[in-house]
Amino acid sequence: MVTVRFAPSPTGYLHLGSARTALFNWLYARHAKGRFLLRIEDTDKVRSDKKYLDEILEDLAWLGLDWDAPPIFQSERFGLYRKKAEELLAKGAAYRDGDALIFKIVPGRAIDVEDMIHGRISFQTDNIKDQVLIKSDGSPAYNFSCVVDDAAQEISHILRGDDHISNTPKQILFYEALGLALPRFGHMPLIMGADGAKLSKRHGGVSVQEYKSEGFLPDALANYLFLLGWTPPTETEVQHLEEAAKLFEISAMNDVQAKFDLQKLKWINGEYIMKKSAAELLPPIKDQLASEGWGAGMSDDDLSRLIDMYKIRIKTFREFTELTESFFKDDFAVEEEAKKKYLDRPESRDLLRELAGRLETLDDFKQEKIEAVCRSLAQARGLKAADLIHPSRLAVTGKTRGAGLFELMELLGREKVIRRLRLAGP
Ligand code: GLU
Repeated sequence: MVTVRFAPSPTGYLHLGSARTALFNWLYARHAKGRFLLRIEDTDKVRSDKKYLDEILEDLAWLGLDWDAPPIFQSERFGLYRKKAEELLAKGAAYRDGDALIFKIVPGRAIDVEDMIHGRISFQTDNIKDQVLIKSDGSPAYNFSCVVDDAAQEISHILRGDDHISNTPKQILFYEALGLALPRFGHMPLIMGADGAKLSKRHGGVSVQEYKSEGFLPDALANYLFLLGWTPPTETEVQHLEEAAKLFEISAMNDVQAKFDLQKLKWINGEYIMKKSAAELLPPIKDQLASEGWGAGMSDDDLSRLIDMYKIRIKTFREFTELTESFFKDDFAVEEEAKKKYLDRPESRDLLRELAGRLETLDDFKQEKIEAVCRSLAQARGLKAADLIHPSRLAVTGKTRGAGLFELMELLGREKVIRRLRLAGP
């Protein structure tokens, strides 16, 4: 049976690169109707932290990944690693150096690996130093505990980042020395920023957490992450995980570095947002509003209307809060340039005051009525509708873009609209 694993070290938050590694392992397991397992590589007791572990597991679940058995923890398995290392000592394949146990590398050998992504990769043992199995503090070296556990978990395919390529020949030597069957290896090219540099904060963030708090949807982020390494053989790249799992083939994975493109991620996120109903978007948008410290005063009905008005105009939930700030606060930000252009003129002030006066007399503050008032005022003044709409939108929302003016005025309510129109201007 195909059995794969994701083996995070809980020494930091889940990075996009690691999330993508987990995702491809999951896709492969689900495609092959195999198993996806977790192993927590917490051998470094000082740097490992439960808060990172909790966060990693939460992020994986948030992205839509599930695993088929409870995770195993390397910190609980030191006895096993020592036993295996002592077996190698007894066979003469390892030696002691103080309290450490060291594996002897026999020079003069070639090790060829048929990598699932890169094809054949060849190594020479001449270039490999003797390898620590157990350190003098009793903890295992990564390469050794990795092999012992991959064998114990019956891992059939190891899919991981290119940064592990140089570990693979060492691990193969341990498999051989322990008399274990070899798994297949596949190394994924790393994710780079668009400028070719290592992915960093300035490319838009490196941890899944950062994207979560910017208001990306998990299914959109997962979709984007698998595009960094594989293109589904479908007309559109917008594919949910379940669909992707059906179509996924490791042999179709790219063997060149993937470039992270924030604009494309935003575009995909926008596609997912647009297709969701207001009811589906309500909980994550409420979370986003809560993280800004606003939103508590609005009813779910009104918020749903606002979401319906804005969901086609936003790429992230952060953009939703930026665009809709004026629905939650009176001291909302006003676009500077547009203010100079539309509001800082005496004629705008008079126009907006007159509009306020006319709107005040409406018995029913509904969008059709508001529209009729605006149009007749524009006509009376010999203006184009746009000449009234732009300054009005800016006065009541602080923004030049957003939902239709009349529907947003209706939702804002008469009192706020009139007050803001009267306060606008020089
Ligand atoms: N803990 C290792 C890492 O996070 C796992 C490497 C592997 O998949 O073998 O890079």
